[in-house]
Amino acid sequence: MMNTISILGSTGSIGRQTLDVAEQLGLQVAALTANSNVERMEAQCRKFRPRLAVMTEEAAAKELAIRLQDTSVKVLAGTDALVDAAVIPEAETVVTAVVGMVGLKATLAAIREKKRIALANKETLVCAGELVMSEADRCGAEIVPVDSEHLAIFQCLTGREGELHKILLTGSGGPFRGWTREQTRDVTPEMAVRHPNWSMGAKISVDSATMMNKGLEFIEAMHLFGVTPDDIQVLIHPESVVHSMVELLDGTVIAQLGVPDMSLPIQYALTYPERKHSRSDRLDFTAYCLLYTSPSPRD
Ligand code: NDP
Ligand code: MG
Repeated sequence: MMNTISILGSTGSIGRQTLDVAEQLGLQVAALTANSNVERMEAQCRKFRPRLAVMTEEAAAKELAIRLQDTSVKVLAGTDALVDAAVIPEAETVVTAVVGMVGLKATLAAIREKKRIALANKETLVCAGELVMSEADRCGAEIVPVDSEHLAIFQCLTGREGELHKILLTGSGGPFRGWTREQTRDVTPEMAVRHPNWSMGAKISVDSATMMNKGLEFIEAMHLFGVTPDDIQVLIHPESVVHSMVELLDGTVIAQLGVPDMSLPIQYALTYPERKHSRSDRLDFTAYCLLYTSPSPRD
C-alpha cells in the first residue's frame, strides 16, 4: 500500500472524509488545496503538516500564509498552483476532490507524473474523459474511481475482462423521488441539499435532487469502463445499499453492496488492491430483509 497522498479539494465533503481515512490508515499528506476556506485549511495544515498548501483565491492564500508563519508549510496561490500540489514528488496518490472542471489540468499533470488518481471529481471525466483516459493509458497511470457507483462497478469487473454484457448503474432518486411536477414547484435549495441517504457537498446534492448527477455518472461510467450508452442501464434503488451491478455475458449479475458511507469507497480507492479493516458501520441485512428475519410465531 502507498504511504503518501495529496488531496485537491481537502476542505470539502470528500476531502475531509479522505483526511479522516488517511489518519486511520496512518498515511502521510504531502499537499492540500482549497478555494477560500482559510479556517479549515489552517486546521488541516496544523494537524497533517503537508509540505504544500494551495488556496486558489489569492486573498485566502495571503491570509493562510500569515496564519501558518510558525510552521514549515509552504503556501501557494491561484488555480495554476493546483498543478504544483498534483505533481508534488512525495505523493504516490492524488485524490481529486475539487468540484467542477477546475480539477482537469491538475489531474492531467498528475497522470503525466504516473501518480495513482483516486478520482472523485467526476466533472473531469465528463468534460474531457477521452483525453484523461488516453493519457492515463499512455502514461501507465492508474485511475481508481471514488464515486461509489463507479467503484462498485470497478470491483464487480475486476478479473472479468471480456465478460461484461451490461452495467446496471443505480441511483436513489434523491430527495424528490416520486414528487409530481406540481409538488416540486416550491422546493428550496435547503430541501434540495437534504439527501435522504448520502451526506455530500452542495453541488452534487443539488445534482442528485435533479437527477443530473446520474447523467454525469452515466458519462463518467462510459469513459472509465470504455462502454457505449447502450451498455449502461440506470436503475432507481431508493435505499442506496446496492452501489451498482454488472450483468455478465451469461446473464450472471454481480453487485457490490454496503452502507451509504463515502469513507468506504474513499478507503478502498486508497488501499486498492489491498483491503483494510474499516471503522465504518456494517451493513445490517436484518434491517433490509424483514421478510426473512421476522417470521411470525405461527411460522
Ligand atoms: P464540496 O463542495 O464539499 O468541496 C469542494 C472542494 O473543492 C472544497 O475543498 C473547495 O474549497 C474546493 N473548490 C471549490 N471551488 C474551487 C475552485 N474554483 N478552485 C479550486 N478549488 C475549489 O464538494 P464534494 O466534496 O461534495 O465533491 C467533490 C467532487 O467529488 C465533486 O466532483 C463531486 O461530484 C464528487 N463526488 C462527491 C461525493 C460526495 O459524497 N460528496 C460522492 C461522489 C463524487 P473551499 O472549501 O475553500 O470552497
Ligand atoms: Mg455517485
